[in-house]
Amino acid sequence: MQFRDLRAQYQRYKTEIDAAIQKVLCSANFIGGNEVAELEEQLAEYVGVKHCVTCANGTEAMTLVLMAWGIKEGDAVFVPDFTFFATGEVVAFRGATPVFVDVERDTFNIDPLKLEKAIKRTIKEGKLTPKAVIPVDLFGLPANYPEIEKIARKYNLLVLEDGAQGMGGNINGKRACSFGNAATTSFFPAKPLGCYGDGGAVFTDDDGLAQLVKSLKVHGKGKNKYDNVRIGVNSRLDAIQAAILKVKLRALIEHELEDVNRVYRLYNERLQGIVETPVIPEGYYSSFAQYTIKLKNKQQRDELQAKLKEQGIPSMIYYIKPMHKQGAFSYLEYDDQDFKVVNELCDIVLSLPMHPYLSEEAVESVAESIQKFYHFLYK
Ligand SMILES: *Cc1c(COP(=O)(O)O)cnc(C)c1O
Repeated sequence: MQFRDLRAQYQRYKTEIDAAIQKVLCSANFIGGNEVAELEEQLAEYVGVKHCVTCANGTEAMTLVLMAWGIKEGDAVFVPDFTFFATGEVVAFRGATPVFVDVERDTFNIDPLKLEKAIKRTIKEGKLTPKAVIPVDLFGLPANYPEIEKIARKYNLLVLEDGAQGMGGNINGKRACSFGNAATTSFFPAKPLGCYGDGGAVFTDDDGLAQLVKSLKVHGKGKNKYDNVRIGVNSRLDAIQAAILKVKLRALIEHELEDVNRVYRLYNERLQGIVETPVIPEGYYSSFAQYTIKLKNKQQRDELQAKLKEQGIPSMIYYIKPMHKQGAFSYLEYDDQDFKVVNELCDIVLSLPMHPYLSEEAVESVAESIQKFYHFLYK
């Protein structure tokens, strides 16, 4: 069994993907060009924003936005404590300070109440200037943007949606990567919309921001790449990756999102009452980058993972360490008491095999192994 079966997806779309790659090879346009422009147009339309600007990966997409916003030393940027390292890294990379915020136990996403508390505390301490918040759509579920955007307006903060895992999700029909002042995603192969290498994109309705990001990603270009008006970076999506993504975006829209949600319901039916299953709030739709259960304690989680492994069932721990405990952030002063939820989650979460091509029989066999584990445990 595969944790995320990229081979099954390729087999289903082999003819189209091979043809798309072949077309780029024959055109000999490997950087930029029509493929990239068309993908950006299609993504902007799907997400429901004016601009999509592709770049080298999801981490750079966030960095480009923070560069464009002029985030710098002395600025505070609020980041959930439960996420992939990059969300905090990009803030520190700009010289600013990531202020980690605890998450909601049910949704795994940044807790708006604790976000406001962290903002107030930062203002009171007076050392850093609150500038932005980067909510993450963890495991495919959009963060609580209605509340976060209210708080951001109140304290005049910019919102950057980290939609690396979120493509395809929505809140009452408003799609992931359309929230906040800007959003970013990643096309890393295992994400809900992945390519066959690295890739990323910035989304925004802000014309000025889009222009700035387009300049920054090409060495701070002015009229063209040889007219440089600011210091930028080199951050591109290859034409081959864009061609592959056009096929995969269609697959995501046509059936993959429905299929992962079908797998979610099958898992939930079989696991409810045995373990804590994912909670999707009313009006929210997840793209299920991960299907993550919660166990009673660390020992049970580790034992279950070992048991599943024995039976050839892969599982992953996202995430084993809170951001505030990462060695790279040890220079920050934090109070471990502020992260009660994340500290617990890191001990009890387990992500099960999840992808659009997972069969009902496979779900059945994972669920059965878990049922047996608990039966044995409480016999
Ligand atoms: C994957 C991921 C990123 C980084 O994306 P890359 O394309 O690997 O740079 C950022 N944030 C989150 C939450 C992610 O899961």
